[in-house]
Amino acid sequence: MPAGSRASTGHEPAPLVVDIKRHSLEDGPGIRSVVFFKGCSLRCCFCQNPETQAPYPEIVVAVDRCLRCGLCVAACPLGAVDLQRPGIVDRARCDRCAVCAEVCPNRTLRRIGVSYTPEALAEVLLRDRHFYAHSGGGITLSGGEPTLFPGYLERLLRLVKAEGVHVALETGGYFDDYETFRDRVLPYIDLVDISLKLADPAAHRAVTGKSNQIILANLRRLAREPRVRVEASIPLVAGITATRDNFAGLIDILHEAGIRTVRLLPYNPLGVHMAASLGRPTPAAPGSFMTPAEHTAACGMFAELMAHAVPRDAQPDRPKGDRP
Ligand code: SF4
Ligand code: SF4
Repeated sequence: MPAGSRASTGHEPAPLVVDIKRHSLEDGPGIRSVVFFKGCSLRCCFCQNPETQAPYPEIVVAVDRCLRCGLCVAACPLGAVDLQRPGIVDRARCDRCAVCAEVCPNRTLRRIGVSYTPEALAEVLLRDRHFYAHSGGGITLSGGEPTLFPGYLERLLRLVKAEGVHVALETGGYFDDYETFRDRVLPYIDLVDISLKLADPAAHRAVTGKSNQIILANLRRLAREPRVRVEASIPLVAGITATRDNFAGLIDILHEAGIRTVRLLPYNPLGVHMAASLGRPTPAAPGSFMTPAEHTAACGMFAELMAHAVPRDAQPDRPKGDRP
């Protein structure tokens, strides 16, 4: 794997990969490999993986793993490591060179973001092609926002598709150039899972940093594409997305677009802890999981609203997060 050699694709910035999750039973049908790209246009306060937001490499610090050996202090060329600091790294000084992470013996300091050429990434993903074939699985592009890199994806997916692998895309739907996406990426995609957060544009901007107008326009265009299957996911965040008004608004949007498969995703507060490890301010998101009772109530409310919104002869698939 050619870490460090940036895989540039013309004028498009080359993506970094945060993680490759192999043998996943989530993120699409069958056994899958999931690629988490780094870089996203949204800044959702409840983001579960805030390390995927910025497109550049970052240093993540797990303070409780520190052995106090001092190797990082000696190695840092900018004097940006101070073991007396609560977060160890002085982010104002640090230029993210990752020298400290290379010498740290306990992975207290880690560099997030690895560069792969499309060919190298395809080679990694195709190692599990037999699992995909036997399970009805494939690969899933996730993030972050994979659609920020259409030229890279085109090169990657041409190689993957040549082996007959099923490809799913998880997207927040926020990309400006639908035509480029349609022409260069969509021909290789079998399943799109678009994440919807808030129905109201102003509320969406307040919580994610951007209005949802581009997302909804892309959703409608995607839903009209003849070949690709389009599904939706909604993160369940108490007091933010999981409200009756928001559910009703999102259901109207889904109904209008003709999308009938919806996944309700339980909120995971890991993102709050990761934000601290990245040296960022604490996000305005819940610090704990929903209780089972809260989750059941939210799913029940969504199912009830969905049933009322859709004619009886065209009822949606039951939300997969529902627990009757
Ligand atoms: S990433 Fe580089 S500059 Fe930043 S703390 Fe580590 S060694 Fe120092
Ligand atoms: S090198 Fe790692 S374990 Fe050692 S003091 Fe630095 S952060 Fe702690």
